[in-house]
Amino acid sequence: MSLTDPLPFSTTPPAHCDSVWRGATLVTMQDGHYNLIENGAIVVADGKIVWLGPVANCPLFPDAEQHEFAGGIITPGFVDCHTHLVFGGNRSSEFEQRLNGVSYAEIAASGGGIISTVNATREATEEELIESALFRLRPLLAEGVTCVEIKSGYGLSIDSELKMLRVIRTLATRLAVEVKSTCLAAHALPPEYKNRPDEYIRLICDTLLPIVARENLADAVDAFCEHLAFSPAQVEQVFNAAKALGLPVKLHAEQLSSLHGSALAARHGALSADHLEYATDDDAIAMAAGGTVAVLLPGAFYLLREKQQPPVAFFRQHKVPMALASDANPGTSPVLSLRLMLNMGCTLFGLTPEEALAGVTCHGARALGLQDSHGTLAPGKAADFIHWPLSRPAELVYWLGGELPCTVVYRGNVRGNHHL
Ligand SMILES: [Zn+2]
Repeated sequence: MSLTDPLPFSTTPPAHCDSVWRGATLVTMQDGHYNLIENGAIVVADGKIVWLGPVANCPLFPDAEQHEFAGGIITPGFVDCHTHLVFGGNRSSEFEQRLNGVSYAEIAASGGGIISTVNATREATEEELIESALFRLRPLLAEGVTCVEIKSGYGLSIDSELKMLRVIRTLATRLAVEVKSTCLAAHALPPEYKNRPDEYIRLICDTLLPIVARENLADAVDAFCEHLAFSPAQVEQVFNAAKALGLPVKLHAEQLSSLHGSALAARHGALSADHLEYATDDDAIAMAAGGTVAVLLPGAFYLLREKQQPPVAFFRQHKVPMALASDANPGTSPVLSLRLMLNMGCTLFGLTPEEALAGVTCHGARALGLQDSHGTLAPGKAADFIHWPLSRPAELVYWLGGELPCTVVYRGNVRGNHHL
């Protein structure tokens, strides 16, 4: 698969335009590199970029809205390509218990862990799930996320999974952000199916996924391939069912052990394999051949105090695109800042700042199948971009915590707080 995007700027002036944005350095992220255009201009029409290049070459559009920046940088809007933002309750009490010395076993025995989130999610109304997800989405959006993926996977029953997916679709109508929905019914074994994982997998394949496809509730199907979740053979059944319905697949793989789920995903042409701490050289080769993006999730690695780092050197060597995401979830990654993940991707996994930024822009978009419409500054792409009063793109990765001022443009319009 080629990673080559169209040329960063065209010489043909567009027929009409709505707005012109000029005076900042454009960090285009073409082909995963900064590919800077100093003192650049972006021309927008109908929510898309129709021209960009140096200000000196910019055609005049006297009737268009004019936006002048006194320096700074413009990056593509951030893509958070892996989140579990919809769930009932939260697990802060469990977090506190653990730090007070209560063991995982004791917490699980008292109904804690993922099952507590499943119970709270099943009990919540759609409106309650929407409100709590908005509370977590807003901070992500405030620092520049213009496209977010959200998974189901805490319902684990037909009705509750469909409820989660409807909530995800509704969120797209509540905030000015692009939302991609992923069905992750194969996240964990529901208590009702204890010791009967194959029956649960059949329920997903034969009953749930056909409804999801018919009602257009998901853009992709995901699963969790791990000893404590589902085997590669079970995952493969889910993949086959999804593909028969025309839904692309992705996979949580190699987080805690090596089952070669990432190679399996790649053989099925998966959009991405995610986590990957225990991925091997062979897995990376398979992913390169399958065009599968490696989604790295430093938040969970950090919170679980993992020691095994994902094999970034293999991914580099085999040219597997690497994305970074928040993995926002109540148990292992209560992360509300994608920019913090940029820093952690570098400090914990050894990414370069340029690779980290590519991970939340062009490669994040590719992990969602959106590489033709999102993730770089280029003609034809969505006019989703962020102006930062910073001198260099590495500053986005370097500043740790805090809130950097920024102007977020979504589909060609400034996204104000009233949109959030
Ligand atoms: Zn996840």
